[in-house]
Amino acid sequence: MPEYTIGLDLGGTNLRAAAIDRSGVMLDKISGSTNFAEGRDAVLSDITAAIAKLRDKHGPTGLAGIGVGIPGFIRMKEGIITGSNNLPYLENLPIRDEISRRLGALVILENDANAAALGEQWMGAGRHVQDLVLLTLGTGVGGGIISGGRVLRGSVGMAGEFGHITAVPGGNPCGCGNQGCLEKHASATAVTAMARLMQLGEDLSAKEVYDLARRDDLVGEKARTIWRVFGENLGGAIAALINTFNFPLYLLSGGVLPAWELFEPHMMRTARERSFTFRATLNETRIAQATLGNEAGLYGAAYLPWIEK
Ligand SMILES: [Zn+2]
Repeated sequence: MPEYTIGLDLGGTNLRAAAIDRSGVMLDKISGSTNFAEGRDAVLSDITAAIAKLRDKHGPTGLAGIGVGIPGFIRMKEGIITGSNNLPYLENLPIRDEISRRLGALVILENDANAAALGEQWMGAGRHVQDLVLLTLGTGVGGGIISGGRVLRGSVGMAGEFGHITAVPGGNPCGCGNQGCLEKHASATAVTAMARLMQLGEDLSAKEVYDLARRDDLVGEKARTIWRVFGENLGGAIAALINTFNFPLYLLSGGVLPAWELFEPHMMRTARERSFTFRATLNETRIAQATLGNEAGLYGAAYLPWIEK
């Protein structure tokens, strides 16, 4: 009887893997380092070594499958990665089948932000709903959509790229070719950039701008302005998502969450102003903090074999 799965979350410098049972109890977790710069074989070996370590400890017979969260777009049918800035050498190769061959087990690849959204739906803040959107507000803005308890991927796995929807028409240029992308106006990086423009400091983290905002002087006022603008930009984007999906839950995670109390009122006000769907469903629609932090991707990856095979 299959008893557990292994979820793996591949980041730029670290790789984490967990054995999780069918009910969502994390049995074991390991982390190791990986370096995207080392190339294809090194990254594949890091992935398989981490999984094999957990499988050998918990037994191959109980293993129902393996989910791997990867920063990039996934073509599910073919089991390949496309459009990954970080892992160009893994693109268009049969990565899923290669990992599966090395480990002799079912493997499912998933975009890392999609996996995080699925993890929140399985064991986090979305446990009681079947439909949600997760926005990860960090260096950039990632997103995932869960509809009917399943990841909504779009036709080639590129759905949910909320970081690149236009939040500010004619706004800051973005590497994707657009102007005014959400991640240029409502990410941790955007907070740092605004702090620089307001001459608060050259390279302040979101946490530092949060700390400044608690000061009772002109500096504090400037920092609070940044969080107001941040909240308004985010609220406008969430208004568009609420109008699009009419889901009951919109979750936020990432490095800006500590400043929740500063941007939340502005985000909520703007979302109410801009979304008639939100105003009509105030009791049924929630914008809330995700609860699993950086473990969401592990839970989501581990959940995949149970729902996708
Ligand atoms: Zn963009």
